[in-house]
Amino acid sequence: MSSPARVRADACPGVFATHDAADGPLARVRLPGGVVTAERLRVLAACAEDLGDGDVHLTSRGNVQLRGVTRPGLAKRLTEAGLLPSPSHERVRNVLASPLSGLHGGIADVRGLAQALDAALCARPVLASLPGRFLFAFDDGRGDVAGEGADVCWRAVTPSLGTILLAGVDTGWRVPRESAVDAMLTVATAFVETRGAVWRIAELTEPMALLPGGPRERPVDRPVRVDPAVGRFGSAIGVAPRFGRLTAAQLRVVADAVERAAPTPVPATPVLITPWRSVVLPGVTGLEAEGLSLDPAVLELTACIGRPGCAKSLADVRADAAPLVPGGVHAHFAGCARRCGRPSGAHLDVVAEGGGYRVDGRWTPVSRLAEALARKETS
Ligand code: SF4
Repeated sequence: MSSPARVRADACPGVFATHDAADGPLARVRLPGGVVTAERLRVLAACAEDLGDGDVHLTSRGNVQLRGVTRPGLAKRLTEAGLLPSPSHERVRNVLASPLSGLHGGIADVRGLAQALDAALCARPVLASLPGRFLFAFDDGRGDVAGEGADVCWRAVTPSLGTILLAGVDTGWRVPRESAVDAMLTVATAFVETRGAVWRIAELTEPMALLPGGPRERPVDRPVRVDPAVGRFGSAIGVAPRFGRLTAAQLRVVADAVERAAPTPVPATPVLITPWRSVVLPGVTGLEAEGLSLDPAVLELTACIGRPGCAKSLADVRADAAPLVPGGVHAHFAGCARRCGRPSGAHLDVVAEGGGYRVDGRWTPVSRLAEALARKETS
């Protein structure tokens, strides 16, 4: 049932197995559901300052990365903070959940499901061999994370009932909320046992063969939408740093703000890292912090790490994109054709080439990037 086989090894980085980037070892820390307490944010900030490049970089799966980790001790510090609960499952704890669930909008409240799945995942030894690219998602019915390319997604259709999507496609398998974790791990286990050399459910020729027998309803093609979760949402706010890079000082501002909003330390109030590189602060209604914007427009221009962090990059893409003012056009800047970190929604493709950029197919010098984007705004 699998095709076609991948020949390269799964090289997704973690903390125990870092990626050798041009700016030094890169460590990725999984945060299932994007959930992280204020206390753990401070640990990440301290690790970034003491061991890495001083910043924490948000990823498109609601995880975080530390770059330039040239000094030892990261795994020990993160383990002591509870951020590495299972070394064997470290790289497979990739779980999205609608970040505003239970706070603003949505059909169901999916809070807690990502943590329940994480605990059950780590308790099953066989699932340690899932590929590091495999992705779980819990969508509260609004269609935000359902559009993020998860291998298996539970999407709410009522407050207590959901449907299972495989690679974004409704299977018609209706599953109650309380059975969602079991159902998703049943699919993941079947995938591990039958996947051969493929990494993603989308690569299988018969993904429906992963489902157990039983009644199915007619699949429904429900809309998805990009919702960057930036702005004011009732009793929560969502903020975004430019290019998903948070300084250690900004992380501490965020940690202080959520603790001030809910001072009881146990259970600590979580912050939510979204797959759109924004940060949701429950209970917080305002935040004065340089470089953290409540304007969703800050996410219109995204960029891969580029030079000097990536040896493949033909340009310092973030430096080239930084002076450009967002104006209604979503554009992703990439240092090479791999286009790492590109958003899932519609966007303008801007790829470094020959001392400039190919913008939507047309070569453009750096000096004319603003003009090229403005043309798109008005077209
Ligand atoms: S798109 Fe290319 S240059 Fe940018 S991070 Fe990926 S590999 Fe590096």
